[in-house]
Amino acid sequence: MTTENILRRHDLRRTSNRTAILDVFVAQEVALSEREIEEAMSQTCDRVTIYRTLNSFLERGVIHRVLDDSGVMKYALCAADCAHHEAHYHDHVHFKCRMCGQTTCIEQVQIPKVILPEGFALEEVNMLLQGVCPECRG
Ligand SMILES: [Zn+2]
Ligand SMILES: [Zn+2]
Ligand SMILES: [Zn+2]
Repeated sequence: MTTENILRRHDLRRTSNRTAILDVFVAQEVALSEREIEEAMSQTCDRVTIYRTLNSFLERGVIHRVLDDSGVMKYALCAADCAHHEAHYHDHVHFKCRMCGQTTCIEQVQIPKVILPEGFALEEVNMLLQGVCPECRG
């Protein structure tokens, strides 16, 4: 999927910052922290702009948050068929490689449906699997 398609699909106007940030996600298929995004961008962009852009992407369902054990918030592109019902709900797992430290979305593996007791409203589900990725095992 191209950056242009993603912006169009989410009704987002094309700005150079949005394009540059999305280009980074499209090029790298792993979850990225704000710092990694900043470093990989083709143009310089201040932190506040990156932060705001990421938040608008989150709200629109362009990207989702990925929690791993690094203590830093990471983000990954949403799949084309990502279901954003009331909240940013994802049912795939994330895999963190202990050797390269990269976290990947594993869309093929789904988190079993979680049924909460009466009164709880589910907003976000995260499941982290850890081990060694195919490249590091190589
Ligand atoms: Zn999503
Ligand atoms: Zn690895
Ligand atoms: Zn993911």
